[in-house]
Amino acid sequence: MTGNQTFTMIKPDAVSKNHTGAILKMFTDNGFTIAAMKLVRLTREQACAFYDVHRGKPFYDGLTEFMSSGPVVAACLLKDNAVADFRQLIGATDPAEAADGTVRKLFAESKSRNAVHGSDSDENAAIESDFFFSKIERVL
Ligand code: UDP
Ligand code: MG
Repeated sequence: MTGNQTFTMIKPDAVSKNHTGAILKMFTDNGFTIAAMKLVRLTREQACAFYDVHRGKPFYDGLTEFMSSGPVVAACLLKDNAVADFRQLIGATDPAEAADGTVRKLFAESKSRNAVHGSDSDENAAIESDFFFSKIERVL
């Protein structure tokens, strides 16, 4: 049994280039319903906490600096089989390896500045949604 929610951020590269509307349209055109959403600029400490699973990896410092460099659009999305279907929609981490038509193929600059985040498991989807949204901020 797979869960029906995932968590996403439109990252600072895509927000600053005004791709937010086009990316949100791809989410909703592909069957995802927005259950919660906000524009927020993370502090470095908040970015470090969110990406704690990657602490110690070579890209951790650059990632947390980038993710706190400008606003992100955080959202909780609903769909059957949400985590797997969303990762298919966004494509591979590195846009050079992402399939045609995916969000990262269309909008990402590089493996690090790759336009969007998507949860990797049902468990992390719940943890990440709870990191950003309280119950009263969710409509579904
Ligand atoms: N990242 C990076 N270099 C790497 C691997 C990852 O800069 O070699 C960044 C990239 O922004 C990625 C994030 O760290 O989206 C989290 O990495 P993960 O392996 O979880 O990729 P994702 O789940 O986002 O596809
Ligand atoms: Mg990941």
